[in-house]
Amino acid sequence: MTEPLLKITDLEVSYATRAGLVKAVDKVSLEVQRGETLGLVGESGCGKSTLGFSILRLVRPPGEITGGQIIFNGEDLLQKTEQEMRTIRGKRIAMIFQDPMTCLNPLQRIDDHFIETVRTHEKAVSAQEARQKAAELVDRLGIIADRLTDYPHQLSGGMRQRIMIGLALILNSELIIADEPTTSLDVIVEAQILDLMKELKASFELSMILITHNMGIVAELADRIAVMYAGKLMEVASAVELYDKPLHPYTQGLLRSIPNISLDSQKLETMPGSPPDLIEPPPGCRFHPRCPHVMDKCHTYEPIMKEVEDGHRVACWLY
Ligand code: SF4
Repeated sequence: MTEPLLKITDLEVSYATRAGLVKAVDKVSLEVQRGETLGLVGESGCGKSTLGFSILRLVRPPGEITGGQIIFNGEDLLQKTEQEMRTIRGKRIAMIFQDPMTCLNPLQRIDDHFIETVRTHEKAVSAQEARQKAAELVDRLGIIADRLTDYPHQLSGGMRQRIMIGLALILNSELIIADEPTTSLDVIVEAQILDLMKELKASFELSMILITHNMGIVAELADRIAVMYAGKLMEVASAVELYDKPLHPYTQGLLRSIPNISLDSQKLETMPGSPPDLIEPPPGCRFHPRCPHVMDKCHTYEPIMKEVEDGHRVACWLY
C-alpha cells in the first residue's frame, strides 16, 4: 500500500480556559489517501473543525497542539517554522471555509482575490496570467468571467461559495480541507454546490477532508468516513460500509436521525442527551451516558480503537 498523503497520529489539541483544560482533540489518529475524500463527522463541538485547523497549524490561542504528529506527504507539519507553514497554507493545503462572506475581503474585487492568491505563492506569474487562469476556472465553476470584476456583496451566496472553491483550487493544492462548505446555503443551492464538488472531485482527482455535521452530505461525497465524539475518534470505515453496517452506537444514532421521506413515521428520531462537557468528560467511554448498550466496564475503562474488519475501525467494548 502506498504512503497516505496525510497521516495524523495521536493528535492532541487543548484549550486552557479559566474553568480548566479542554481537550478538544484527544489522541486522534487518521489517514487520508491520495485522491480520497475523507468525511469527518460529528455533532457541534466534537473537535472536527479544530482537527481541520490544526492540520494547517491555525489553532488560535488559548488553543494549542499539545501532542501527536501530522505527516503530510512525508513532511512533519508540527516541526515546520511559521514561515514554512505560510508556503504550505493556501498553496499545498487549501481550505474552503463555512462562510465566504467572512473570508472574502468586501473591499476587493473577485479577480483581485484570485490574483493575490496566485501571486502570493507563484511570484513569476503575472497579474494578467493569474486573471486568465481565474477566468478559465470560474467558467468551470459555472460563473461567467465577467463577474470577476464584481465585489463579494454583488454575488449570491452560492456564487460566493463557488468563488471560495475556486480560490482553493486555483493552485492545484495537494489537499483541500472543506469545513462545513454548504452550511450557510439554502437547500437548493446546497444541492448545486454538492453536485459541483462531486464533479470537481472526479475531474481534479481531489484529496479532500470534508468536515460536516450533516450525514447526508458525507453520503454524497465521501469515500471514507471518520466519526468523532467529544474529541475522540469513535469509528472509521468506507462510506458504503459505514452506512450499511454502522458498528458504534453513536454512529447508529447519527444515521437514525437522518430524515427519511420514504418512511411513514411522522416523528424524527433523535439521540437522547447531549455531548459532554469536555472540561470534565465522563470516565470510561465518553458516550456512555447516552449509550443504549452501556455495560459496567464502559463506565470505567476507555474502549480501545480496533480494526474489526478490513479498514473498519471502532472504539467500543461491544466489539
Ligand atoms: Fe456504548 Fe460501551 Fe460501546 Fe461506549 S463502549 S459505545 S458505552 S457499549
